[in-house]
Amino acid sequence: MNPPPWRKGEIVRIEKEADQTHLFRIRIPELEKFEFIPGQHITLELPISEKQSKRLRSFSIASWPDDSNIFELIIVHSEDKASTNYLFTELKPGDEIKLRGPQGRFILPATLDKDIFFICTGTGIAPFRSMLHYIIRNNKPHKNIYLISGTRTSGHLLFHNEFQKLSEDLPLFHYMPVLSREEWAGEKGYVHQVYKRLAKSGQPAYFYLCGWKKMIEEAEKHIL
Ligand SMILES: Cc1cc2nc3c(=O)[nH]c(=O)nc-3n(C[C@H](O)[C@H](O)[C@H](O)COP(=O)(O)OP(=O)(O)OC[C@H]3O[C@@H](n4cnc5c(N)ncnc54)[C@H](O)[C@@H]3O)c2cc1C
Repeated sequence: MNPPPWRKGEIVRIEKEADQTHLFRIRIPELEKFEFIPGQHITLELPISEKQSKRLRSFSIASWPDDSNIFELIIVHSEDKASTNYLFTELKPGDEIKLRGPQGRFILPATLDKDIFFICTGTGIAPFRSMLHYIIRNNKPHKNIYLISGTRTSGHLLFHNEFQKLSEDLPLFHYMPVLSREEWAGEKGYVHQVYKRLAKSGQPAYFYLCGWKKMIEEAEKHIL
């Protein structure tokens, strides 16, 4: 299948969401509505190299389809990378950015007839934020949904208040942040111990993984 065309995006807002992590709000002026399936990503072409192949970076869409032409990305800053240096230090509201999307097949099943485990680290939470809001806003029937989100410290937690509030309002949504390098009242350690405790052996469930490579490699040993 051909990739979607390159389009012009406009930065609407950039705001700090957590340590080293910003939320980028982007509008596509030429579209009335930006249509995508929760879990999909877009590709940005950044002016950081002569070669086009070295200018491309993908980011999951962190917002949900809302009939507008605006969407959100949650991006972590690696200071030794020209790509995120450009996004964090040069880009400002009103600037244009070249983008292509939506792309990808990391999406929800047609029916949510089993428990869902969304397991992530860092900005890997982006597609799950999109999927969760989509489920809620469209009143999709579902079983338990567990969001198990690992970060190093509380300063790195993303959308923490938003998910906490959702878990108070929705009896079947369980938000379980896990910190690996800070003592706190919540879960301490890595995400693996949490889903291993919650998922009964042999239980039919959907497991979604997104985030640091090491986490995914380790999780595959337990889940597959
Ligand atoms: C599907 C997907 C979703 C992601 N979502 C997020 C997110 O929500 N938030 C976040 O902070 N990070 C996300 N990332 C990671 C992000 O794309 C970058 O990898 C990260 O910002 C580090 O960038 P880097 O400059 O170290 O380059 P690397 O990703 O290490 O890239 C190194 C080289 O690989 C090539 N390359 C990288 N991406 C592409 C591409 N899309 N197409 C062709 N060539 C490429 C380029 O030549 C580049 O020079 C996502 C990655 C993928 C694949």
